[in-house]
Amino acid sequence: MDDCIFCKILRGEIPSKKVYEDETVYAFYDINPAAPVHVLVIPKEHISSADQITAENSSAVAAVFEAIPKIAKQLGIQNNYRIINNCGEKVGQSVFHLHFHILSGSEVMGERLI
Ligand code: 5GP
Ligand code: ZN
Repeated sequence: MDDCIFCKILRGEIPSKKVYEDETVYAFYDINPAAPVHVLVIPKEHISSADQITAENSSAVAAVFEAIPKIAKQLGIQNNYRIINNCGEKVGQSVFHLHFHILSGSEVMGERLI
């Protein structure tokens, strides 16, 4: 997508601090971290939100979830992180390229949303 920030990051048009990359998945540090560890994991395929996941594109989402434990291990936060997805503007989604926030550290411990 031409005007999508994360597609621009994938094309190298906007710099990012890479954490992990494979054929299908890219992970990079959030520019405005909400916790000591705050990484965004995205499929390389442009999917605008979790609400747009279908049988045709779900393999890219599966690849994201296969990558997450590898990323956690690499960052030394295995079994100690939250995965957050904001789906839709009303719940705070600000970038419309599917992404999962990986958060770890004291700021995300001891607080439960549900
Ligand atoms: P959302 O609000 O859509 O769930 O999450 C979007 C996230 O993308 C935010 O946490 C925001 O800080 C991050 N973000 C927005 N623009 C950029 C950017 O250009 N580079 C990086 N690394 N993160 C970004
Ligand atoms: Zn995109």
